[in-house]
Amino acid sequence: MSHIDLPPLSRRSLDAVWHPCTQMQHHDQGVPLPAILRAQGAWLHDQDGKRYLDAISSWWVNLFGHSHPHIINAISEQLHTLDHIMLCGLTHEPVVQLSEQLAALTGNRLGHAFYGSDGASAVEIALKLSAQYWRNQGQAHKHRFVGLQQGYHGETLGALAVTDVPLFREHYDAQLATNYMAASPDLRQAAHPDEQQAVTQAALDSLETVLRQHTDIAAVILEPLVQCAAGMVMHAPAYLRGVRALCDRYQVHLILDEIAVGCGRTGRFFACEHADIWPDLLCLSKGITGGTLPLSVVLSSHTLYQGFYDPDLRRGFLHSHSYSGNPLACRAALATLELFRELPVFELQDALARELEPGLQDLATRHPNIRHLRRCGMIWAFDLDTGPMRHDHDAFARRFYRSALRYGLLLRPIANTVYIMPGYIWQSSETHHLLTGLHDLLKEYA
Ligand SMILES: *Cc1c(COP(=O)(O)O)cnc(C)c1O
Repeated sequence: MSHIDLPPLSRRSLDAVWHPCTQMQHHDQGVPLPAILRAQGAWLHDQDGKRYLDAISSWWVNLFGHSHPHIINAISEQLHTLDHIMLCGLTHEPVVQLSEQLAALTGNRLGHAFYGSDGASAVEIALKLSAQYWRNQGQAHKHRFVGLQQGYHGETLGALAVTDVPLFREHYDAQLATNYMAASPDLRQAAHPDEQQAVTQAALDSLETVLRQHTDIAAVILEPLVQCAAGMVMHAPAYLRGVRALCDRYQVHLILDEIAVGCGRTGRFFACEHADIWPDLLCLSKGITGGTLPLSVVLSSHTLYQGFYDPDLRRGFLHSHSYSGNPLACRAALATLELFRELPVFELQDALARELEPGLQDLATRHPNIRHLRRCGMIWAFDLDTGPMRHDHDAFARRFYRSALRYGLLLRPIANTVYIMPGYIWQSSETHHLLTGLHDLLKEYA
């Protein structure tokens, strides 16, 4: 069979691909999926010559635009030198350099890097490290975890067991380990700004109640500052300081899942820097390779690392993935960190925010169905009162996504929350394209 006989992708049945996070039947009812040929900077180009502004950084992974030459060249150079080797019993320059640079970014507080290939595996690694640490200490009874309501940590069984998104969890309850959930410090609960402190304190009280009642807890795991998958739910840095103090008082680990909020997304390299605290374990993935290749890493404190350091093999951390520390992905990450050193990243972000923020504020005054416009670094979100669609937010999200494509925008609301996660270096014309497109789009939902 010759490939010449095939019709263009967008007119082919796409059910050979079972898409993630999708009811496949919805594809058959909607317009054909855009078949993307290439991506450059902030834009995705499809095979029919239409282009879309990537306003959600391709599921939050892209930082400096698509096909950034610095990252592409580094990967290409690496590919011609060392493609991949196992990390067990062998080492290589990119993985050592990356680990050293990540350690330095934490001021050597988290000086030991353990690698996986995706975010969910990083969460599994962090949970296993915490539980085994206590076991190695002769405290095997400390094996459960505390997550937050509305928290999301990935979709493998261990990660799902600390996730509180019913849509992702409900079918697998029988397979999931028992853990605890504490209240979300969601600042939307504050009717006025002066109630924010009370919301934060109530969430800390809820966590303390769990920690006081249960002696079988190994760690608290949470997404610092923004619970992204729940719909860009934001909280105060003071909450993180409170959690750190509680973890110390009750002798449990603090695991920060910075898979979405790390790598500069919140306006600092690590989200926890806003609160001036460090966790015992920190998970990174998504943006670490600038959105080019899959890689994840768990950064560990020295105390935790020492808990495994022993003549006995079985007290070591016997976890591995075939592509742990893949040289290509590590080189992509090194090139990404170079961009953080060479570009004034946070000034560029501020400049982008100065253009985008007033436009979104203006949109919120002109469209009274916009609620809770909020921002944390390079994450903006608002909730939309969807009127007649308020009883089926999933249908709203799908319809909004399709309408956005017509305006040349890639936007994918979470239920009725519309969010924007731009790349860190957008042109003014790109901000303008987003704002005018959003304005017209929102008129359809007035
Ligand atoms: C995306 C995400 C994960 C899971 O990462 P995958 O690479 O999709 O497995 C875990 N935690 C958070 C906070 C995330 O946003």
